[in-house]
Amino acid sequence: MKNALITGGTSGIGLGIARYFASHGYNLLINGLERNGTETAHDMATEHGVKVYFSGANLMQPAQIREMVQQAEKALGQVDVLVNNAGIQHVAPVDEFPEEKWDSILAVNLSSSFHTSKAVWKGMKERGFGRIINIASAHALRASEYKAAYVAAKHGIAGLTKVLALEGAPFNITCNAICPGYVRTPLVEAQIADQAKAHQMTEAEVIEKVMLKKQPVKQFVDVCAIAQMALLLASPASSQLTGTMMPIDGGWSAQ
Ligand code: NAD
Repeated sequence: MKNALITGGTSGIGLGIARYFASHGYNLLINGLERNGTETAHDMATEHGVKVYFSGANLMQPAQIREMVQQAEKALGQVDVLVNNAGIQHVAPVDEFPEEKWDSILAVNLSSSFHTSKAVWKGMKERGFGRIINIASAHALRASEYKAAYVAAKHGIAGLTKVLALEGAPFNITCNAICPGYVRTPLVEAQIADQAKAHQMTEAEVIEKVMLKKQPVKQFVDVCAIAQMALLLASPASSQLTGTMMPIDGGWSAQ
């Protein structure tokens, strides 16, 4: 029950989840485009005394996703927990939104989670155990301007989560989405500059007036809170917890 595949596990939220799972005895395969992925996996394994493998599969390519899942099943023996975390962002008004950005955001933030889930499904079903955790976003529940592709993909993930929860129910496969507010990761750092341009504000104004404006607690979300929730959802004890959208957003979605 303690073998997990984490996409985007070499940066930001995914890296935080991977480290937390490793510290709780999980063997892992982490995936991502970071060049130091092998080194990150090696360091994590040494620090926590678990096995950690790396895959540099590009999640825009379904064939590479299938190979990555095969690699994980071979290396770990089986995949009990799948964390669909990898994601990208682009911020622009709809009439200026580049079509190739729409396609790539939909591919990474939505379609890849279908392909990974499909690839692990057979094994999970045969073993009568599976935990699929989608790192969605507050944008799976709420919209913001200038994020057409991201909001569409994250709302799509909410739908996929519910369908997998229904189909997985007879087989003890659960599927849930965690919906964080803003977390200060490389993805958000890059976005601050883009948002400043789109909103014609300074970067400090973007943080105060665009990002944290939506979060009543006025703080970025801590990666650790997301990792703790993911570990709870991964637990065998969480078999009744399925089909949910778990906000960790400082009250954003309460509004
Ligand atoms: P990040 O940029 O730090 O990490 C993203 C990871 O995804 C990286 O490891 C990157 O290599 C990987 N990735 C991107 N494209 C890929 C591809 N084609 N193939 C393989 N891997 C790819 O970002 P983050 O902020 O940690 O975001 C992680 C997830 O959390 C995303 O799904 C994001 O939408 C979601 N999220 C982030 C925030 C936030 O404020 N940071 C808030 C809500 C939801």
